[in-house]
Amino acid sequence: MQLELVIVQRRVQARVPLPRFQPDPHSLAAQQTARRPVVRFADIPLEWTDFRLAFRQTADILHRYDAVDHDDYQRILKLGRDGNSLEPVVAAWYEATSLAEDQPPRQQAPEGEPQGLDQVLVLAIRPFLARCAEVLGQLTDFSEWRRHCPFCGWEPDFAVITPSAERRLICGRCVAQWAFAPFTCPFCSNDDRALVTSFATRDGRYRVYACDVCRRYLKAYDARNAARPVMVSVDTIATLPLDAAAIQRGYLG
Ligand SMILES: [Zn+2]
Ligand SMILES: [Zn+2]
Repeated sequence: MQLELVIVQRRVQARVPLPRFQPDPHSLAAQQTARRPVVRFADIPLEWTDFRLAFRQTADILHRYDAVDHDDYQRILKLGRDGNSLEPVVAAWYEATSLAEDQPPRQQAPEGEPQGLDQVLVLAIRPFLARCAEVLGQLTDFSEWRRHCPFCGWEPDFAVITPSAERRLICGRCVAQWAFAPFTCPFCSNDDRALVTSFATRDGRYRVYACDVCRRYLKAYDARNAARPVMVSVDTIATLPLDAAAIQRGYLG
């Protein structure tokens, strides 16, 4: 399933134009100073035809692998077909989930939404957002530690330990990376090392940081002795046994 999802994203990403906007350095700096994500909804170079295609194909794949049930799948398809309702839904969802640094994490998708819609939206918008992050990453300094993605305001979903032993978080929506404290929990800011349980796979390639305050965990690829850089689509699948191990110990993804 993951592989099929990656193929859809690659296909769309190849067609995404570079952001048309000329980022205004003043508004970029203002967003940064306010510790808000720098990509605003209006900046995203969304081509609705491509977005709809990615949206439908993602929903099809999740449904085929039973990740979305039949009724929710039908509701998601209906939303994707209806030209007038999809765009405001996507805009409102992005606004609500593009979190500034001082906002608490969003607990769950709003009630009444089809289950799985969040996941379909994350995957369908990823190629467009990833392109924005690519462009903006070259223009701005993102070295300040942030819990939420400095580009799109979503949560980190994975991490990489660089050869210089720095930990970089990886956004679960736009896949951008940013530096973060090596042992602070990005979900609740707990920085008491005694309250962070960390364990690695036997080969040392992957690691889990589990927080004993909020009970959430984050997986990481340890690139210190690795032959290749992190590959999010591969590494998130290769670490499924680590998810099982973390959940078994009572932590939440
Ligand atoms: Zn992001
Ligand atoms: Zn925590």
